[in-house]
Amino acid sequence: MLEAESVGFVYEDGTVALDKVSLVMEEGEKVALVGPNGAGKSTLLHLIAGFRTPFSGKVVVSGKSLDSSSADLVRRDLGLVFQDPDDQVFMPTVEEDVAFGPRNLGLDDIDRRVTDALKSTGIEDLARRRPHRLSHGMKKRVAIAGVLAMDPKMLLLDEPTSGLDPRARKDLVRLLKEMDRTMLIATHDLEAASEIVDRVVVLNVGIVMQGTMAELVAARDVLESAGLEMPPLPRLFRLLEARGFPTNEMPVSMEQAVAELSKVIEGGDVRVRAHRGVQERKRAETGVPHPDLEIDRRKAQN
Ligand code: ADP
Repeated sequence: MLEAESVGFVYEDGTVALDKVSLVMEEGEKVALVGPNGAGKSTLLHLIAGFRTPFSGKVVVSGKSLDSSSADLVRRDLGLVFQDPDDQVFMPTVEEDVAFGPRNLGLDDIDRRVTDALKSTGIEDLARRRPHRLSHGMKKRVAIAGVLAMDPKMLLLDEPTSGLDPRARKDLVRLLKEMDRTMLIATHDLEAASEIVDRVVVLNVGIVMQGTMAELVAARDVLESAGLEMPPLPRLFRLLEARGFPTNEMPVSMEQAVAELSKVIEGGDVRVRAHRGVQERKRAETGVPHPDLEIDRRKAQN
C-alpha cells in the first residue's frame, strides 16, 4: 500500500526534517507515527500525501511512484486530516464542506458519499450546521468526514486527539479503532494509539524504532529519548510486576489488560502472589527472610 524508501527532506532554510526514512505499510494496517515535537511527523505525512516532494529517496503509493506529475493521481488514494480542523473546514455548512472534496475531484454520487461519510463519523445530525460554530471535537469529525467522502484507500491523521476533551477523545478513539481502513496516525498520545494501532514507528528525523506498542513500552530508553510518556496501563502492570505479578504479555490496551488480569484472578492466587511479592521486597530491603519464605525453602530442600 505504502512504501517510503530512504526519504530525506530539507526545508528552504536548511532545516533537515527527515533523513533516510524507510517505512512500509500493508493494506488494512493501522500504524502510529510517534516522536517528539519537531521529529518530522507532519513533514512525513505531507510528503506521503503529495503536498511536498522528497529531497531524496522516494514514496510509492499503491505501486505508483509519487512525483510532481503523479501527485494529483496519487492524492486520490490518500486522505490527509490536518491537526487543526480550522485549516481544513471552511464551507458554510457541514454537508457542503463534506461535499467539497469529492466535488473538487469530479467524483460522482456526491449525495451518497456525503451521507455515508456523515454516518460513519456519527454526525448525520449536524449536516445543516455551520462548522465554525461547532466544538473542536465535532469540527475534527467534520474534517474526517470530508476526507472519507473521497473514499481514500489510506487515511493520514495528524494528531487526531490533540485539543479534545476526554469524552470527545474517547469517542474519536473508538471511531478510528472501529474504522476499517489503512491509517497512519501521527501522535503524541500513546494511550490513544494503544487502542487503535497494530504497529508503532518512532521517528526523530530518522526512524528510531519500529515494532508493536508492547515492544515500545518495553524500550524505556526509546520512550525517554523520544519524549514520550509510558501509557497508564503498561505503567500499572510494571508496578504490579515489581510486586510479584509477572505478566505473560505486557498489556497496552484496555482489552488486553482485562484479559491479563482475568487470567490472574481466575488463577485464584492473587493474594498469595501479592503477599509473596511484598515479602520478597522486604527481604531484599532488610536481608531478613520472612517465615513463609523460609518454610518454602525448607520444603524445597526436603
Ligand atoms: P513534528 O510534526 O514531528 O512536530 P514537523 O514535521 O512539523 O515535526 O517539523 C520537523 C522539523 O522541520 C522541525 O525542526 C520544524 O521546526 C521544521 N519545519 C517545519 N515546517 C517548516 C517550515 N515550513 N520551514 C522550515 N522549517 C520547518
